[in-house]
Amino acid sequence: MRGLMQAQPLTTSSILEHAERCHGGQRIVSRMVEGPIHRCSYRELAARSRRLANALLSLGIAGDDVIGTLAWNGFRHVEAWYAVAGLGHVLHTINPRLAAGQLAYIINHAEDRAILADLSFVPLLESIADQLPGLRDVIIMTDREHMPATSLRSAHCYEELLEQSPASLHWPALPEDTASSLCYTSGTTGRPKGVLYSHRSTVVHALSVCTPNVMGLGMQSVVLPVVPMFHANAWGTIHAAPMAGSKLVLPGPSMDGKSLHELITGEEVDVAAAVPTVWQMFLQYLQDSNQRVDCLNRVMVAGSAVPRSMIEIFKRKYGVTVCHAWGMTELSPVGTINHPGPEERSMAEQEQLALRCKQGRFVYGVTARIVDDEQRELPWNGASAGHLQVRGPWIAASYYKETGDHLLDEDNFMDTGDIGTIDANGYLQITDRAKDLIKSGGEWISSVELEGHAMDHPDVALAAAIAIPDPKWDQRPILIVKLKQGHAAEAEDIREFVARRVARWQAPEWVTVTDEMPLTATGKISKLALRHRYSHPVQSVD
Ligand code: AMP
Repeated sequence: MRGLMQAQPLTTSSILEHAERCHGGQRIVSRMVEGPIHRCSYRELAARSRRLANALLSLGIAGDDVIGTLAWNGFRHVEAWYAVAGLGHVLHTINPRLAAGQLAYIINHAEDRAILADLSFVPLLESIADQLPGLRDVIIMTDREHMPATSLRSAHCYEELLEQSPASLHWPALPEDTASSLCYTSGTTGRPKGVLYSHRSTVVHALSVCTPNVMGLGMQSVVLPVVPMFHANAWGTIHAAPMAGSKLVLPGPSMDGKSLHELITGEEVDVAAAVPTVWQMFLQYLQDSNQRVDCLNRVMVAGSAVPRSMIEIFKRKYGVTVCHAWGMTELSPVGTINHPGPEERSMAEQEQLALRCKQGRFVYGVTARIVDDEQRELPWNGASAGHLQVRGPWIAASYYKETGDHLLDEDNFMDTGDIGTIDANGYLQITDRAKDLIKSGGEWISSVELEGHAMDHPDVALAAAIAIPDPKWDQRPILIVKLKQGHAAEAEDIREFVARRVARWQAPEWVTVTDEMPLTATGKISKLALRHRYSHPVQSVD
């Protein structure tokens, strides 16, 4: 027997319409590329998104056209998200931190017909324009006054287009499995791959992000996604905040400690989301400038493992709860998040802290398992480590332009490439990326664990453990660290600090201190670059 409920499709335009009608006065605050802070309401956002949609139609955008964005987190970028997807086209968020060759590759692979670009990225686009044969229109996201002289053909001024376009439009009724947006994975190995989200996956994911066990958003929340809209959908905040009627605060191009602090305290942000490197900088700023962040209640931290010291400092010094999360572009991106559960009430503080360091519980909608090399399922006992596999309604089945459900096995699980344990309460602990594990004398060493211990050293800002070839043990771990500004620990001190915390054979062979830690386009440490740099056999301590 079939249920008798309405088959109303879940589309992103329904979020915008809801925000306009029920939370029309709620604010969006953006730091603009042009400098000042801009304020508007969800009512204005909805009207301007309709104007932009009409402008896109007047440029001849139609059918399955893909429209790129090269933009920071700001109100015009939000309008572009809703206008493009609302019309039934595909919004491609391009990561401007990619190398020029990679940028040209993904723009051509996605077949971007038009690109909406912030002023900051006009020179970048000009430098690769001759490699983009399919690009027809560029819309520069500024007003007439700031419009630059440009060599780009068919460059339009965003605000002029909006002025010339009517605000009336009925969003088309789309099947909910229509593609809505496209995001390429960072591509630390091989070519970047496109993850193509649907309206349904986006809406269901945003509903989950609003819930108390994920970001806990409501009308009283003030949300600051520092995580860029071009990296894994700004973790769902751009759809979840209007759904919940939360105030949305967008940092534009300024993600330094001082600018973030101004925005957080000025706008009374209570929940913010960013990768660990951003929070590391922020904590350094708070400490150096002796500032406080009393309005901030919790920070979502994901992208790479959160050091224990970060969780401790945020809580003890500033009263801020760190919610450690794990996700992937392929998961829209939320997979797990760490919130204090009822079983913690009876735990001692140190035990609680150890639990906080895990990546957290799977959220409803993400079904997980861990398996060994022979695909045998492993128990959830917090000790057995295996390949992490997931399935669910906001998880990719295949990459863009690669046909079939080729990411999935016969049980519809996707292998994440991560290695981890899961405990009896469903808490995930990532122990490594499969390709980052270090095998020494036949035993596995977790690079994440070594990095975590190194980050607990008071002088260390960033740490990466990689394997180097060893004639006797096959591989040995080495540790590369960047020190905090004004700190001067010796490499050997750090090696001993880590060695005291692990088994003797797991201790790093040597430690080197570097001034320049290579980062990927998504702000993670590039182990690929480090492997190139340190690919020689074992050396003595630096
Ligand atoms: P991306 O698609 O660029 O967001 O990268 C996803 C990958 O980042 C995951 O497969 C993990 O390897 C890593 N990652 C994300 N969150 C965490 C975390 N909290 N701890 C450790 N690794 C993480």
